[in-house]
Amino acid sequence: MMTGAEYKESLKKLNTVVYAFGEQITDMLENPIFQPHINAAALTYDLAHDPIAEDLVSATSHLTGKKISRFTHIHQSIEDLLKKVKMLRLIAQQTGSCFQRCVGFDAMNATYTVTYEMDQKLNTNYHERFVEWLKYVQESDIMICGAMTDPKGDRGFSPSQQQDPDMYVHVVDKNDKGIVIRGAKAHMTGVVNSHELLIMPTTALKEEDKDYAVCCAVPVDAPGITHVFGRQCNDERKYGTIDQGNATYGIVGGEAITILEDVFVPWERVFMYGEWQFAGLLVERFASYHRQNYGGCKGGVADVIIGATATAAEYNGVGKASHIKDKVTEMIHLTETLYSGSLACSCEGRCTPSGAYFVDPMLANVVKHNVTRLIYEISRLSQDIAGGLIATLPSEKDLKHEKVGKYLEKYFKGAAGISTEDRIRIMRLLENMTAGTALVESMHGAGSPQAQRVMILRQGNLEHKKRLAQKLAGISSDSTN
Ligand code: SF4
Repeated sequence: MMTGAEYKESLKKLNTVVYAFGEQITDMLENPIFQPHINAAALTYDLAHDPIAEDLVSATSHLTGKKISRFTHIHQSIEDLLKKVKMLRLIAQQTGSCFQRCVGFDAMNATYTVTYEMDQKLNTNYHERFVEWLKYVQESDIMICGAMTDPKGDRGFSPSQQQDPDMYVHVVDKNDKGIVIRGAKAHMTGVVNSHELLIMPTTALKEEDKDYAVCCAVPVDAPGITHVFGRQCNDERKYGTIDQGNATYGIVGGEAITILEDVFVPWERVFMYGEWQFAGLLVERFASYHRQNYGGCKGGVADVIIGATATAAEYNGVGKASHIKDKVTEMIHLTETLYSGSLACSCEGRCTPSGAYFVDPMLANVVKHNVTRLIYEISRLSQDIAGGLIATLPSEKDLKHEKVGKYLEKYFKGAAGISTEDRIRIMRLLENMTAGTALVESMHGAGSPQAQRVMILRQGNLEHKKRLAQKLAGISSDSTN
């Protein structure tokens, strides 16, 4: 397993083509715009070696028997599913932001289970190929970016009906050595500091869409691949420290759009090609695995928000007020509610035909859906307690300015014994964690709320519920037919 420093070193060997702010970036590791995200991912490497965390952050490969990062592991039990959730909360408590590696982790587990079932049904040999690649991933400990979301163009049309056929990643050519793909993947968490992409279809497909039924692995720096890094709220503050709020780990994952312009993929890295019948299953598995996470990682993030909020209240001099305690209690309650959902969908997981364990999809969707609401409520309470300062504070440069600095020092002073700078620091952390990009990530990361509602209704067995009610109401099953 790599250490964080080795992971950073390994990125230097890649020729990843990245654009940001209208320029090609050649010094990503030294560039403050990227550093926080790289630091967060690096922590996942370091913690695998940390005696306090290694039981959660490392695992034993079922393929080789070797010690590997949990982020490259295939869940072999309910305990593995539970350890995943606990690991995510633990890491998020350290970073206060997204550490990105779970997307590839979930993509690998989903692809592992689906290729097995696809081979059983269609007599293909994708699973064997996938396992060979997985062994390489486990051995080299590289970071995989799970790449699902296509740009989708006009949402009213299927992939093959789009005016522009590239709105979904598709196969444009093939030969005896491999396939050529074109399109783009949007909102790619951590892609610029990953080593490889695991590309999957973004939606269930019909036969006419079979060119879009493609799952494959490709290096992030393969010829034809360009990444354009996304802007975040306040991203220019990454050039400072106090203003940024969380200078070490930043906000969310550092997303990018990845453009695939006729990218060649050798057959040994192709894990689905044209099997449209299995695209929906792969999407569903990946989505449920990733939605499982949200009570873990957002639980850890919320722990930091709660700690920052309680600190802000103390720094304001009202830490002991009963209404503050009541609101903080509510924040804790909401956080533990989210965490419970992630644990529950893990406990109710089951073994798939491949031997890998899969979460309960209903409960996984419920927990992610709750995140789209409860993180907003946790953030609302936090802002309520912290006060308007988080939106109106002058900059770090003003605080350190020879002329006006002394006034800011004086007038932003709170409780006795607390430095003004510390008070400003905690307010900035809260601004970073409860406003702007971080909230949007909780809404749309792992799929937008409507995607969860579709799954919840599908899994909800409404007919069974209707029969339960009709029976109690004395309505015979004959009269309802
Ligand atoms: Fe992992 Fe959470 Fe980031 Fe998703 S949002 S990649 S689950 S840390």
